[in-house]
Amino acid sequence: MTSAERQSQRLLWQLGFFVLFILAPVFDLFRFDLTQGHAWLLGMPWRLGLDGFLAGRIPPLEAGIALILRLFLPILGGGALFIFAAWRWGRLYCGWLCPHFSVVEAINNLMRRASGKQSVWGKAPPLAANGLLRQANGTFLKPDKRWWLATVPTALAFGFIWAVVLLTYLMPPLQIYSHLFHGALARNEALFIGAGTVVLTLEFLFARHLFCRYACAVGLFQSLAWMANRGAMVIGFERKRAADCTACREEGGNGYYACEQVCPMHLKPRSVKQAMFTCTQCAQCVSACDGVQTAKGSLLNWVEGEAARQNEATMSLTGKRD
Ligand code: SF4
Ligand code: SF4
Repeated sequence: MTSAERQSQRLLWQLGFFVLFILAPVFDLFRFDLTQGHAWLLGMPWRLGLDGFLAGRIPPLEAGIALILRLFLPILGGGALFIFAAWRWGRLYCGWLCPHFSVVEAINNLMRRASGKQSVWGKAPPLAANGLLRQANGTFLKPDKRWWLATVPTALAFGFIWAVVLLTYLMPPLQIYSHLFHGALARNEALFIGAGTVVLTLEFLFARHLFCRYACAVGLFQSLAWMANRGAMVIGFERKRAADCTACREEGGNGYYACEQVCPMHLKPRSVKQAMFTCTQCAQCVSACDGVQTAKGSLLNWVEGEAARQNEATMSLTGKRD
């Protein structure tokens, strides 16, 4: 599979999961209904079975077993599978599925067009000899402030969608959508959606990757599991070809590294694994390097098992950068 095909495939996974994120509550695939006091899972009510105990119909032992079977086992089982995947393949969930990371990348792309940077906090990017910004796909871009007119409304739209969807994970989805459609939201519904939209829009505009790096518990636990496995899949750097990296400077200007410019997490993909703690395995750095090293192929590639250990040993011995 070429790196371009891999990115197309990743986009499909992200789109599919974003649709699932929106529709899961509508079809009762997963949600907790505050009005009914129980969860829904795969179309079925998910109760802990404590009603009978509280009403004195079942003994404590039976209630305890129900709690273990219906709460602890599913949570621990699901959590163990998730952590195992992260231990083996890293933060694949983040880079390939997470609906937040999809927004991160969408807004990054728009911001890059508006300002040349993928975040308001980033440094001014290096420019190529033609005075333009080289993009990962090899084309050149002249940042244009008019793109802010698309960036801000897109962040607002995502903020609104997220706020509405989050509410449907807690309240009956059909009720929320019907109230929205008829402009008849209850006071608390309107407050939740209004406040959620403001907070999420600000987050999408100013803190996207910072949230992924420093504030997301789902991401943190995946990273910790991944770091515990020295043979886990990781972006490896072909160190013996490091001199080829001059091609990046020739194409994009002094200080230009295609892999760094494109990384949504603002990492330096040629670094040791410890410095890549929050890598989401999106493989955008691999595609970007492929776009520079068209004849010889990317210096960055996924490696695992012994190759991952070897890669780490070489990187640690020789330092991080060329
Ligand atoms: S280092 Fe590469 S794979 Fe990891 S987040 Fe950055 S671009 Fe994606
Ligand atoms: S690894 Fe590839 S993309 Fe990164 S600096 Fe070297 S040549 Fe450029």
